[in-house]
Amino acid sequence: MKPRNRRRQKKGLNLLLGAILIIFVVVAAAVGIKYVTGSLGGSGKTKAEAEKEEKQEDKNAVKVTGIQIAAPRETIRAGEGTQLTVTVTPDNATDKTINWTVSGGGGTVSEDYVLTPDAAAGKSTVEITAEAADGSGTKASISLRILEAIDPHQPMVAITYDDGPSAETTPTVLDALEANYGVATFFMQGQYISGNEELLKRSYAMGNELANHSWDHPQLTTLSADGIKKQIDDTDALIKEVCPEENPILRPPYGAVNDTVKSVVGKPIIMWSLDTLDWKTRSTEKTIEACMTAKDGDIILMHDIHEPTVAAAEDVITGLQEKGFQLVTVSELYHYRNGDFENGSVHYSMSAEEMDQNTASATETSEDGTVVTTDEEDGADADSLEEEDGSDTENSDSLE
Ligand code: ZN
Repeated sequence: MKPRNRRRQKKGLNLLLGAILIIFVVVAAAVGIKYVTGSLGGSGKTKAEAEKEEKQEDKNAVKVTGIQIAAPRETIRAGEGTQLTVTVTPDNATDKTINWTVSGGGGTVSEDYVLTPDAAAGKSTVEITAEAADGSGTKASISLRILEAIDPHQPMVAITYDDGPSAETTPTVLDALEANYGVATFFMQGQYISGNEELLKRSYAMGNELANHSWDHPQLTTLSADGIKKQIDDTDALIKEVCPEENPILRPPYGAVNDTVKSVVGKPIIMWSLDTLDWKTRSTEKTIEACMTAKDGDIILMHDIHEPTVAAAEDVITGLQEKGFQLVTVSELYHYRNGDFENGSVHYSMSAEEMDQNTASATETSEDGTVVTTDEEDGADADSLEEEDGSDTENSDSLE
């Protein structure tokens, strides 16, 4: 985030220099007008005295010379409030009031700098401009990508990619998501984060969810509590350098969980409801086909370390959107569907139907004590064990 801030500061400096020039013009114009209308004052003062006084006032009023605006991410959701950070300089400016405009009437900014893009602003980039209300003409603006607003009652799916990041393959997925205002969740191995920080920053800025897939992909159920904790914490630490406010969710390698894992990880545990088997087929076409069988609330499993999988990304994303699916991160899926998302709880999918059932029978307790609840999920678990053996031993393809 730091280089971006620096860029903003540089931009702010240019704006500031421009603003100083504008102030000169505005002040000169104001003084000119007062000189002409000064005689209408009728206060008993001589024209010269009144003029002198007003000049003094102008001198005492400290005008705004700079405005800096920052958003937590360059991509935000329509219909959600986003806290902007606004710095008005100098600190002792007489009137720090700001007038806001959002291009295309795409939203509003409140007095305490909360930006709320209109639902209609989805899938566009808007320019947010702040102008000092003190007549100084000082202005600043930022561009933000706006994702479509989420309707929890309409179909949605969460695309997930495991085992990266990879400098070779992950960017293809990001390009496809960016072009189509889509988002996905990336369950990453901590061991691959170092050196890929810029990739992660880009991904985070796009609105994606950066999540935990352990440090180096062990079967967590074979480790001690301390061993599990280290796998999770070391990866968290690197993720937090890129997205500081997140508490990343976890997908355990092989989907393997037991009570120790559940009690130690301190975050929701995310499985999947649709396994594309991309690791096995290594087929772009079959990966697309599998994704097109998605139903509402599905969490779709893919791996952004495989060339055929990332080659499918564009068709997967546009295909799902054309079918009417909203693309959300896993956390958004549970947030918008009011899903139970406690630390240590295990999740496979979250359909609108489940949401309605949950609201209807709030007393019902679900799968908390058990790892697997249905046959379908049994199947997915078994696949996953097979899967990651395959995808992680890249050098021993013959094992498959
Ligand atoms: Zn994996």
